[in-house]
Amino acid sequence: MTTAFRSAERPAPPPRPRPGSNGLARELRQRGRRRLLREDFLTTLAWASAAASVALYLADGGAAQFNNFTTATTSVGIITGLIGTDLVLVMLLLAARIPLIDGTIGHDRAMEIHGKLGKPALYLILAHMVFLLIGYGLTDRLNPIAEGVSMWNSLPDMWIAFISMVLFILVVVTSLVAVRKRYPYKFWYVVHLLTYAAVLTALPHQFSEGQLFSPGQWQRWYWIVFYLVVLAALLRYRVWAPVALTFRHQLSVTRVVSAGDGAVSIELTGLRLEELAGAGGRFFIWRFLAPRLWWHHHPFSLSADPAAGRLRITVRNLGKGSAALTSVKPGTKVAVSGPYGLFGHAARTRPGLVLVGSGIGITPLRAILERAEFEPGEATVILRASTPETLYLRDEIAELCRQRGATMYELVGQRARHGNPWLPRHQTGLALSNYVPNLRASDVYVCGPKKWADAVLEDAKSAGLSDEQLHHERFDW
Ligand SMILES: Cc1cc2nc3c(=O)[nH]c(=O)nc-3n(C[C@H](O)[C@H](O)[C@H](O)COP(=O)(O)OP(=O)(O)OC[C@H]3O[C@@H](n4cnc5c(N)ncnc54)[C@H](O)[C@@H]3O)c2cc1C
Repeated sequence: MTTAFRSAERPAPPPRPRPGSNGLARELRQRGRRRLLREDFLTTLAWASAAASVALYLADGGAAQFNNFTTATTSVGIITGLIGTDLVLVMLLLAARIPLIDGTIGHDRAMEIHGKLGKPALYLILAHMVFLLIGYGLTDRLNPIAEGVSMWNSLPDMWIAFISMVLFILVVVTSLVAVRKRYPYKFWYVVHLLTYAAVLTALPHQFSEGQLFSPGQWQRWYWIVFYLVVLAALLRYRVWAPVALTFRHQLSVTRVVSAGDGAVSIELTGLRLEELAGAGGRFFIWRFLAPRLWWHHHPFSLSADPAAGRLRITVRNLGKGSAALTSVKPGTKVAVSGPYGLFGHAARTRPGLVLVGSGIGITPLRAILERAEFEPGEATVILRASTPETLYLRDEIAELCRQRGATMYELVGQRARHGNPWLPRHQTGLALSNYVPNLRASDVYVCGPKKWADAVLEDAKSAGLSDEQLHHERFDW
């Protein structure tokens, strides 16, 4: 059933859910439990790796070094360096797009944790430098600056380690939100690639200075294997997987059609697309292989499930790169990697389904609606836009709702100044629970501008939903 709802009237209650969703509820519960177990395992592994890096030093007689100030200072310097490097390696694993991590916590959260670890890792590496300069300086009877100069001159790999430090500082500072917002995405992306240079330039001094990783020590092997695992994950999932996927599916553009105000839907064909069935709602990273376009890559969510033998994305012109895509020609070959993210069926925990999208944020929700399992009356779709022209894909979503027995609301208008900030002015005073009577037995998927999406999630939380029932996709970085 489709309910067009534009004014201040209260939404009519949707039909009561029909029985029969018990099997689905059980299956979703089991799947959710398995995901939580995997999450616990990965969290334990991450903490264990940090603990192991301390244990490496203690097992090498490090504990005995804490008996006087000078050697204790040097030991703190070594331990902070080990934990800091461990965190950097964990950050690289989080960014490697490993399916186990992506399928357990999702790409968004992986990148959020990656971002949060940046500052602690940098502080630890800075502490490593400061404590070692003080500790070695006390041994050599030099002040820390003179000790630094002496190390630079006398230790062959030290100058390159100092370069590594400068690169780390550059990467972390340009990633701070306040700094990041001043530069285009591409600038931040290129600077971020320096992380790899920072890790590589830090390597030589770890093996050539100090005894911990000298030849014959088992600690040396642990450290080498850790680096190799990270390198293998990056090569496998960031380099090889996109190349393999592109060759396997051989995508090319078939049609570009207008999808409303400043937006187009790009349809693609290719080989073995049925293998991607169920990826609706998740996103891929796309590179259109045409002059002026090939060097841009953009994340776009699928706006239709690939089950029907075609891929489709719907792109809103939000900048130079996406503007150029509106005129991409049929026949253009496309390189792709993905699917990424947990914004789809895999994250589901409850039989009820609520899809809330604003503007172009509706694209992944349209694809989820197409294939999600639910009984008629158990799904609600809320389309939010400031003008009717930006209710993207509205007609096809209405048709899908009609076919599948979902309830749809269109909430059009400027934001409410008072009351619930995600609703239009006419609906001020209402809440998500007014639209979705079975809200507490539902999962809520939200996609749209950050502040707006946060307001929807807050509303859902205040209605008593737990974090595991809330899913959101961010279209920014
Ligand atoms: C997971 C995800 C799914 C998305 N799905 C869709 C979709 O289905 N439809 C749609 O129209 N848009 C989607 N976007 C947004 C889309 O990727 C950007 O609007 C687009 O890349 C803008 O590129 P540009 O060169 O035109 O703009 P720019 O002028 O470079 O940037 C405009 C905005 O897009 C952001 N952006 C640019 N490049 C990237 C990038 N590679 N990764 C992340 N953010 C970037 C910038 O931070 C800025 O906020 C999605 C974004 C993400 C992160």
